[in-house]
Amino acid sequence: MEPVLVCTPKRLPLNQLESAARIATEINPLNHPPIERLLRVMPNFEPTKDRLSVLTTKFWHNGGVKLTVGFLDNAPSALRSRIIKHMNAWAKTANVKFVASNTDPQVRIARIEDGYWSYLGTDVLSIDANEPTMNLEGFTMQTPESEFIRVVRHETGHTMGFPHEHMRKELVAKIDSKKAIKFFGQTQGWSAQEVRQQVLTPIEESSLLGTEHADPNSIMCYQIPGVITKDGRPIIGGTDIDDQDYAFAAKIYPKPKTAAPPPTRAALGLR
Ligand SMILES: [Zn+2]
Repeated sequence: MEPVLVCTPKRLPLNQLESAARIATEINPLNHPPIERLLRVMPNFEPTKDRLSVLTTKFWHNGGVKLTVGFLDNAPSALRSRIIKHMNAWAKTANVKFVASNTDPQVRIARIEDGYWSYLGTDVLSIDANEPTMNLEGFTMQTPESEFIRVVRHETGHTMGFPHEHMRKELVAKIDSKKAIKFFGQTQGWSAQEVRQQVLTPIEESSLLGTEHADPNSIMCYQIPGVITKDGRPIIGGTDIDDQDYAFAAKIYPKPKTAAPPPTRAALGLR
């Protein structure tokens, strides 16, 4: 069987959804679901706190992201720097910065036998200080560079608040739900309901911040094996941050505009 990127953005327990949604909206008001638009497409939508909490996105402040990163095990320092270097790949276009710290780090990385995952954006702030916010099962200095590029950058996307790209309607429509329920039940131990939530439910296409079309090469796209698609062909997920990902990250976390250089003497006609 082909390998599949085993990743699921961690969800907070139900009793924390409302407080986490409040934190997300305080940090970035754009996280609040667009109620007016929802009511236009779904006139019977009742904006209860529960429903709004579920629809709240988890982006950080668009004035920039600076997060401290720590490790919950004795990861060697070369590995720590290598992981953090890949996290900062997003800084190529986005105003984000991940900095190593041993003092109350906001992003806490473990490497336990629990697959690959990260909590989504500001949800990181609702996790107990002794718990991981990201897991990179079995990562060592021997792990191939291509896996650092694919997995660390993907999980860091979640930490920045980016959901899974494959959850969009266009891609979900290619998945055979019966096969998917069987597959993820066997490989992940997920219930049918979990598979519906994690794999078969398209994210809100009405999101104000979302990109127009699904990008099957996005780093935030799952690698969906052919065994669960209707046509038997795999959906090849992204193996690195692509141009659309970089453009999206730049839109959510724009870099400060650099001030124009002062005029030269010559420009002013001075000598
Ligand atoms: Zn993921």
